[in-house]
Amino acid sequence: MIVLLSCITLKFNLCFPDIPSSLKSLPLNGHFSFNEIHHTARDFGNRYQFLPLAVLHPKSVSDIANTIRYIWQLGPGSELTVAARGHGHSLQGQAQAHRGVVVNMESLGGLKMHTYTGKHPYVDVSGGELWINVLHESLKYGLAPKSWTDYLYLSVGGTLSNAGISGQAFRHGPQISNVYQLEIVTGKGEVLNCSEKKNADLFYGVLGGLGQFGIITRARISLKPAPKMVKWIRVLYSDFAIFVRDQEHLISAQNTFDYIEGFVIINRTGLLNNWRSSFNPQDPVQASQFESDGRTLYCLELAKNFNPDKIDIINKEIEKLLSELSYISSTLFMSEVSYVEFLDRVHVSEVKLRSKGLWEVPHPWLNLLVPGSKIHDFALEVFGNILTDTSNGPILIYPVNKSKWDNRTSVVRPDEDIFYLVASLSSAVPHSTGSDGLEHILTQNKRILDFCEEGHLGENLGVVSALAKVHKSTHFNGNTNEWITPESEVIHDKIEQIEVEQNSQDGAIPITQEELSIKVFGQRSGYVTGLGMRPSSSSRNIVGHGDNIKYVTQLEQKVQEQADQIQKQADKIQEQAKGIEVANNKIHELVEAKRGTGEDVG
Ligand SMILES: Cc1cc2nc3c(=O)[nH]c(=O)nc-3n(C[C@H](O)[C@H](O)[C@H](O)COP(=O)(O)OP(=O)(O)OC[C@H]3O[C@@H](n4cnc5c(N)ncnc54)[C@H](O)[C@@H]3O)c2cc1C
Repeated sequence: MIVLLSCITLKFNLCFPDIPSSLKSLPLNGHFSFNEIHHTARDFGNRYQFLPLAVLHPKSVSDIANTIRYIWQLGPGSELTVAARGHGHSLQGQAQAHRGVVVNMESLGGLKMHTYTGKHPYVDVSGGELWINVLHESLKYGLAPKSWTDYLYLSVGGTLSNAGISGQAFRHGPQISNVYQLEIVTGKGEVLNCSEKKNADLFYGVLGGLGQFGIITRARISLKPAPKMVKWIRVLYSDFAIFVRDQEHLISAQNTFDYIEGFVIINRTGLLNNWRSSFNPQDPVQASQFESDGRTLYCLELAKNFNPDKIDIINKEIEKLLSELSYISSTLFMSEVSYVEFLDRVHVSEVKLRSKGLWEVPHPWLNLLVPGSKIHDFALEVFGNILTDTSNGPILIYPVNKSKWDNRTSVVRPDEDIFYLVASLSSAVPHSTGSDGLEHILTQNKRILDFCEEGHLGENLGVVSALAKVHKSTHFNGNTNEWITPESEVIHDKIEQIEVEQNSQDGAIPITQEELSIKVFGQRSGYVTGLGMRPSSSSRNIVGHGDNIKYVTQLEQKVQEQADQIQKQADKIQEQAKGIEVANNKIHELVEAKRGTGEDVG
């Protein structure tokens, strides 16, 4: 082992310059840190820690481009990985680079935001800018982005690399559906502008691409007029079917709320006291008599934007919309807050949790996209059997419309008109071995994923998911027990073999699905060693078995269509060959006939 290590070190030293010194000598406006790097080996998930070799604090886009170009030129043998780090709020080390270079995108924030107030307003912002700053800047012009996340202390590049989903997504789509243009530093260190019209592959690849296809240095975000105030409403249900029926009704209605979410409340008594005091029950007497009795309840959370001069109209609209719903009537809670207060609502909880030392704990979050047709089975098992006794944080559940998602982006989502975001946002109590401890929560998460995988809901695909599984699910027909082509089987065996070999080495860092993909299918253009070599996303996408079978069937149909076309062409060629043969025979007969008459046939 020691001999092997010294060989590797020797090879590294012979082939590569002293990397820290060569990084230091790059002409930059910003600088590299080699010592103050430990904070970049942590993230919000608080479970994975990969120490980088260096942290780049860029002051300009060319700092990032020069660094990546240099690493690209070193070639894959340098094994230097690169990760952009926005606000470091990912969960599984996605913004970390083991012995590589972390690009601290927040130091690029010096680039000024620029708001355009014309017919289709937008704001140009740095990839490292926080959404809370984008909000305050655009509000100076009476404008605001259309689609949000629940928490605003996240970077623009960080959420655009995921999806950016919140209660506005049913109407406007996720944040990645609300971007006009991006400036990207590619894996080769080029700086490219891209949009729907220009470098479209790169544009859609980067959106939802988990930082695998390039670094977002600038984004043009679409804006709309901002309201001043928000009516914020919560109502409770005890029947899941009625809860989701009302949610789906609201996201499909024409004139509806501006924000629609929901969450599950498990085993909580004294519920009313837990809600923010600013939430007033519509009928305080009736509400005070409501007992949750430890039942699992479902809370529909709604918001309607308004400007104070239109308050009467808005009140009527809300009354009408609420009259179409079937919640428990004594549980209507409403409050009126400013637009900023509403959007920045999670920050209030952050401040409280930080003051109690409960913010920087492990967060074994589980984010799922579940097809609408499976949500009842899912709820029955997950809320009825797996998470019955307790929950260790909010469990969000709300539907979105597929029509608002652009299928050209890198995000993988269920192929149904309506699908649900389900997010179990647990916090673990450090060192606890009880039901609030990390191990217990991870076991619960695994039970949920196993339930999804074991034939109940279908394959569980991560945004960057288990390669062997995806390959098999799309190239193997479970009905006929056959691979689509013989090569598909060979590729599948190769994937499994590499994975087993790599992971059986003592102490080896498990191979990521991205590395595996590069080993099997080769390096894709624009990949730098590091972009594309980090742990997979933590958000999962439950795609029903039906979808996989449909996909396999489609592929088979395509193969069959191609085979038919080839056969038709072969038939044509054969016909032509026959025609040629007939013509040849005729020529031959003519020649023979002429010969018979003693004519010169040349
Ligand atoms: C409290 C909290 C609430 C949240 N609420 C929501 C929510 O409501 N909806 C939602 O959709 N998500 C939500 N998230 C998840 C969040 O959107 C993602 O974790 C997001 O990636 C975090 O942004 P960040 O700036 O911290 O990114 P990082 O953790 O810094 O990076 C995340 C990923 O993006 C890549 N990346 C970062 N910057 C760039 C860039 N400029 N160019 C290319 N790649 C880049 C990184 O390499 C990494 O792969 C929440 C997270 C937290 C902690």
